[in-house]
Amino acid sequence: APVITFDRVTVAYGRGRGVTHALVDFTLRVARGETVALLGPSGSGKSTALKALAGFVRPTSGSVRLGSRDVTGLPPAKRGIGVVVQSYALFPHMKVADNVAFGLRARRVPRAEIGARVTEALEMVGMAAYGKRLPRELSGGQQQRIAIARALAIRPAVLLLDEPLAALDAQLRETMLGELTRLRAALPDTAMLYVTHDQGEALALADRIAVMRNSRLADVDTAENLWKRP
Ligand code: ADP
Ligand code: ADP
Repeated sequence: APVITFDRVTVAYGRGRGVTHALVDFTLRVARGETVALLGPSGSGKSTALKALAGFVRPTSGSVRLGSRDVTGLPPAKRGIGVVVQSYALFPHMKVADNVAFGLRARRVPRAEIGARVTEALEMVGMAAYGKRLPRELSGGQQQRIAIARALAIRPAVLLLDEPLAALDAQLRETMLGELTRLRAALPDTAMLYVTHDQGEALALADRIAVMRNSRLADVDTAENLWKRP
């Protein structure tokens, strides 16, 4: 089975005359080790797809599966997914190491194991020396790396990234894109869904690109095939 399956997922926000169909009849499969970019303009439904998989919103119809497990009704923490959002959302009063450990504590990982997992995750993003700092003592790019380390610490089979570079300036974005490429190579078994409105990011990182338009999947293929089409 694919690692990630969206099976005809529809998500509506609100109801009655105020209803927004943010995602309609969305079907997509992502294989082990594969990175798929969800590419499309603002409001096209990309984040909603990611939230449906993470468990932050509930589909009105359809299902999401991880491997052969239907997780449609499960709470987020029970899905074993790593999630990184655009505005890194670190806890400002907690040291970097405690930020990274947060998800491990929530998942009741044994205390003796937490230190090693935090170190491992910080090493993966080149931030091993920063565990005792506070988030405000770091640059935006460094904070985003910590947010990525926090997601990696739970050793997820599935990593979701929602516009992780959007809050960074152009130069940092370029640097971080290189870092993400390196990270991808270091996690050959991890399936990734990468939400972006930036074609360059999608081209740099994705094995396949899922093009979103008006709450629907308009097309999905390798970049090579998509750009070859008339
Ligand atoms: P994208 O990630 O492509 O920018 P979204 O998935 O965030 O798109 O949004 C898709 C549509 O759903 C948009 O019309 C947006 O305004 C709407 N939407 C997103 N989140 C909510 C919400 N919590 N409540 C109501 N409407 C929402
Ligand atoms: P994104 O497009 O990256 O999902 P936004 O900045 O559009 O993020 O939205 C931020 C938050 O507000 C998200 O949690 C989203 O679900 C919610 N949101 C987006 N559009 C609407 C909307 N029309 N009404 C209410 N909430 C919304």
